[in-house]
Amino acid sequence: MKWFSEDDLDFVALYFGEPDSTGHKYGPESQQRKDMVSQVDRTVGYLRQRILDYGMKSTLNLIITSDHGMETVIKDNEIYLRNVKNFSFSDIQFEMLDYGPQGLLVPKPGKLDQVYEALKTAHSKLHVYKKEEFPKRFHYANHTRVTPLVLYDPTLSPSSRRLKLQFNKGEHGFDNEDMNMKTIFRAVGPAFERGLVVEPFESVNVYALLCKLLEIVPEPHDGSLNATQAMLAKSAGLSLENIQYYNNQLVNELIQPEWVNSNKQGNVVGFQLHI
Ligand SMILES: [Zn+2]
Repeated sequence: MKWFSEDDLDFVALYFGEPDSTGHKYGPESQQRKDMVSQVDRTVGYLRQRILDYGMKSTLNLIITSDHGMETVIKDNEIYLRNVKNFSFSDIQFEMLDYGPQGLLVPKPGKLDQVYEALKTAHSKLHVYKKEEFPKRFHYANHTRVTPLVLYDPTLSPSSRRLKLQFNKGEHGFDNEDMNMKTIFRAVGPAFERGLVVEPFESVNVYALLCKLLEIVPEPHDGSLNATQAMLAKSAGLSLENIQYYNNQLVNELIQPEWVNSNKQGNVVGFQLHI
């Protein structure tokens, strides 16, 4: 709080590495993950209490969000590329496998089609794309950081293993239209309209919202303020409160009882957020 009360900072970002770590290790359905959500929830409650203690409720905007959900990893029927007929790692210049649902491959010069043909029928669960053929809505097809071949297993098993390197029970990086990949967004403070439910929006739009709140000109980006403008308070400077949550199975754990109980006008609202 002294960053605001003494140092007069305009913007502070706090990152909580949980419940991501516990979700990876034990899986999203585990008791350990649920306990960790409670712990993070208490920490957020502490933060809100300190905002009250410092008399900053009417001047400080607080946004709570994350960048992904979590899905249970299915370990059955894992795919090992070394067992694929007509495929050899000697034809590969660069690989990024064993991490999450995607696999990235750069075949050696002249080997692209050969590797592609070998892999595309290798396994019914494994989808193999030339980069430019990857479904456009993922924004991989034209991206400079995406390799010429992309492997994707949408059945929630980490795809295309080379080695048994990854033992996670929870993962993210799956299709952002999957419900379990969606995340939360809540905002409270004088800038936000009270008691509002908004439509789902993509996290890429949060940057424009932050720029608006900080009154700075955004750098070029793929989002828009249109997605979040409705949540901004019409009359600035009032002490308004707005709590928004994503209505999935986590919601009951993420809603802190004190928030609900202290909110006498029942300004707890829900929405869904695409990532
Ligand atoms: Zn993670």
